[in-house]
Amino acid sequence: MSDPSDVLVKQSAWAAAALNTHHVWGKHGEAASLLWSQKTIGTGSMFSGIGCAERALASINAARKPLCEGKILSAEPLWTVECDGKARAAQNDIIPETTCKFLDIRHFIARASLDEMDSVKVSAAGKRFKKWTAIAKGAGVCKDAFCSQHMKQCPIRRPFLDLSGSMCTAWSTMGSGGKEEDANSILLLIWMRYHFANGTAILVHENVSSFSTCIVADEACAAGYKHVQIKTNPSDVGVLLGRQRKQLGSSRETCRTAVSK
Ligand SMILES: [Zn+2]
Repeated sequence: MSDPSDVLVKQSAWAAAALNTHHVWGKHGEAASLLWSQKTIGTGSMFSGIGCAERALASINAARKPLCEGKILSAEPLWTVECDGKARAAQNDIIPETTCKFLDIRHFIARASLDEMDSVKVSAAGKRFKKWTAIAKGAGVCKDAFCSQHMKQCPIRRPFLDLSGSMCTAWSTMGSGGKEEDANSILLLIWMRYHFANGTAILVHENVSSFSTCIVADEACAAGYKHVQIKTNPSDVGVLLGRQRKQLGSSRETCRTAVSK
């Protein structure tokens, strides 16, 4: 039987490595203290991965409960966003209590910028991703979007923590192989722009283990975040998947400094 504290460390790696702490700060306890320094954590989830980070968050909270003198982390899912019906059903299963369910991450940035990105043609040189990135960097961020839960425009409440995953088909061995030039990379850029522009404190981004892009790391550093990338095992958080996943984690430098004091 494994030592419970070892399990906790492994699980923390999901929510917390990306929270930059397990690997960068060295101790999972510091990761947790960043989370537990908040009374209530507002979470958002965009086109979520396979739910490992969400499970890890719930799990670390449950494991911590008896150890922290009744101080319980309260996570409040503020919204999810997913345009695919099947994926949305899976996401609803992982995060059932979410108050707002937005239908399309593309509606999180200004329409004019989205139209501009959509108008970029595939060139022989394959430089579409660079052009999209330049447009995304200057895009305005929306304050509301259509919510399928309430059947109207709802405000996009700013989360403290974002648990998301981007489309894996362009990166997985069985997929298209398009990588950054894949049409779905627009979604990754919108996710990035939205959170860095709003200053979301902690970002956890999940994808297949072969996922590789420099743009998130570059922009995170430019925006004053600490950034780590690690490979994790879904089985550590009870998800029955034999393959490793990759976690990209960014946390605002100001948060990190406040916690390490
Ligand atoms: Zn709503």
